[in-house]
Amino acid sequence: FLVGKTAIVTGSNSGIGLGVAQRLARAGADIVLNSFTDRPEDHDLAARLAADHGVVVRYIQADMSRGDECRALIDKAGGCDILVNNAGIQHVAPIPDFPVDKWDAIIAINLSSAFHTTAAALPQMRKAGWGRIVNIASAHGLTASPYKSAYVAAKHGIVGLTKVTGLETAREPITCNAVCPGYVLTPLVEAQIPDTMKEYGMTRDEVIQNVMLQRQPSKDFATIEQLGDTVVFLCSESAAQITGTTISVDGGWTAL
Ligand code: NAD
Repeated sequence: FLVGKTAIVTGSNSGIGLGVAQRLARAGADIVLNSFTDRPEDHDLAARLAADHGVVVRYIQADMSRGDECRALIDKAGGCDILVNNAGIQHVAPIPDFPVDKWDAIIAINLSSAFHTTAAALPQMRKAGWGRIVNIASAHGLTASPYKSAYVAAKHGIVGLTKVTGLETAREPITCNAVCPGYVLTPLVEAQIPDTMKEYGMTRDEVIQNVMLQRQPSKDFATIEQLGDTVVFLCSESAAQITGTTISVDGGWTAL
């Protein structure tokens, strides 16, 4: 049902962004994949996705830590019916020790990038008379954990931006929502496992069950496919009256 629509997914050469791109492609949308790298494997990924689903897939390099590149990504795509703001990074440290450059990078990539891409995409959506913006926030957009100051601040920020975007487009056939995943076993989460094993003297399994899934009552990870399907639903006509809100895919985390 998304045939003829173009979907731009930021940070989509890995993890949740790639899962979202795959599900949007399966629903017929043409896809723009993105990350800050420009490697042959990034373009190969685009070619494979195109072949798998019979849609047009382009890979456009742009660094989401830079406002000008965020806006250039939307311009280069030449059309944007669906915008998924997904690029994100993590850093864990107590506030007094939190490196300033990491704070700045997390706020830029996880929050400000969505402001820039949304600002560039809305005029295109208005011209086309239809649009969907989905911001990939987090359970950490609704609750907090210690040592994740920049991430929690950015994710709460993107939930706020989602509400404002929903209000500014409320009278138009454009919606903006945030998806709030709990833990999903992606490279971003894998990268946190060795440090946590060292910190608590735990095995990999203990870290997964006792630390990561401690607050996820289902005791199971959400999957990139489930998140992709949630985004596809938000792009459907059934979701036309869902705007300015959050959908949690967190195994019950935020019900606690
Ligand atoms: P990931 O590391 O697999 O993917 C992150 C993506 O962002 C990659 O494609 C990476 O290349 C890209 N990226 C990083 N810096 C970038 C930059 N400067 N410019 C452009 N692209 C950049 O991680 P993921 O787990 O798939 O995370 C995707 C999103 O989901 C993030 O916003 C993350 O905060 C959010 N999220 C993840 C989880 C989880 O448990 N994995 C939970 C909640 C929210």
